[in-house]
Amino acid sequence: MKYSNFFIPTFRENPSDAKLKSHILMLKSGMIKQETSGIYSWLPLGFKVLKKIIKIIEDTHDSHGINQILMPTIQSSDIWKMSERYDTYGKEMLRIIDRNNKELLYGPTNEEMITSIGKHFIKSYKNLPRYFYHIQSKFRDEIRPRFGVMRAREFLMKDAYSFDKDEKSGELTYENFFKLYLSIFEKLGLKIIPVRAPSGEIGGSLSHEFHLLLETGESKIFIDETFLNSNFSKLKIPEIKSINSFTDELYDSLKISKCLKQLKSTELGHIFLFGEKYSKSFDFKIDYNNEKIYPYMGSYGIGVSRIPAAIIELSNDNNGIIWPKEVAPFEITLINLTSDNVSTKLFCEQLYASLKKSNYDVLLDDRFERPGIKFSDADLIGIPIQIIVGKNFIDKKEINIKTRKDLNETTICSDNIFKFLKKMKV
Ligand code: ATP
Ligand code: MG
Repeated sequence: MKYSNFFIPTFRENPSDAKLKSHILMLKSGMIKQETSGIYSWLPLGFKVLKKIIKIIEDTHDSHGINQILMPTIQSSDIWKMSERYDTYGKEMLRIIDRNNKELLYGPTNEEMITSIGKHFIKSYKNLPRYFYHIQSKFRDEIRPRFGVMRAREFLMKDAYSFDKDEKSGELTYENFFKLYLSIFEKLGLKIIPVRAPSGEIGGSLSHEFHLLLETGESKIFIDETFLNSNFSKLKIPEIKSINSFTDELYDSLKISKCLKQLKSTELGHIFLFGEKYSKSFDFKIDYNNEKIYPYMGSYGIGVSRIPAAIIELSNDNNGIIWPKEVAPFEITLINLTSDNVSTKLFCEQLYASLKKSNYDVLLDDRFERPGIKFSDADLIGIPIQIIVGKNFIDKKEINIKTRKDLNETTICSDNIFKFLKKMKV
């Protein structure tokens, strides 16, 4: 991608209405634009990061036989009346009346809709287990939308749903999703702590949240410190059930006497095994050995659009964002400091083409801007590797490679660029 073709509206000044570092940097680097309270557009740079995250989530789900679907954002109130959540969900639910006076709502989650899909198609235990997921906007009229996309009103969630024939097989599915979540967060380069959670609004018995430790996080979790470095992916369902880490709500309600460390965090994922709750309220029965049974269900959410903000919160410095390579919008930015010079221009165009040919995702800064602006934009948008081409190339065929993370710069001969990148494991 050429910078001259790519829309990155960066700002020099900090936005006045943002407090959280990630919110400030997302606005400043032109990733998002606020449309109204808690509602954001994703601009090209932000959307590219979001798509990288989505791809990791999709690939992991697809490789585990979880079927991707797309349910609508607008739902009928009828199904929410069947589950009795139409009244209990409260003011967070955006209710809509259509021209025929029919009550609709903008979905805050999709348990009801997936149950009605299951009831329509699944008739026998032979069709089970079945797993579905979708990545779709949700709306929750949060009382305090703040911190940008961390707590938005409209946000993107990945929500998956499972249908099993009984509790035993439901628990096995739950264990698999627990592990799937750990592997997704690992692929995103995030160290996540699973904690036991009350099942709350959705109902049921088994529930865990996946938290990222953050000083600025809105959640509090309680954890046995010896747990912090354990390998959670080895846990089986009995150990998952008795894991020694809790949300603050569960910690208080269980009146746990053991002294656990309290830490601040942000919730990035949440899974529930709610059993027959929705299949019962929808009278969704299937054949099972001459009997009729209610399928055993679970739901599994990830806050997709919260993740870029959480990563930035964790990974930034005074100059801007520092993207980990897993989700960086580009792997390399090639900066031509002398865009009006014929030889650097030709060299950069050729290097850009051969980097692309070698499958590097590159942003070529071909703008006619001062070097100072190019440097500060590059540090602000946080692409992991900067290749800097300027006067030294014209005089001595030398270019500089800068790593965004530590701002270290190395001068190399321009003939050695590919060898050098390989050595850096880019
Ligand atoms: P929170 O405790 O942060 O309000 P929640 O428990 O209400 O979240 P869930 O119903 O568990 O949210 O939704 C699944 C995931 O969606 C959460 O783990 C979180 O990452 C994300 N999420 C929830 N609310 C928001 C929001 N307002 N903005 C962005 N992401 C959100
Ligand atoms: Mg939750």
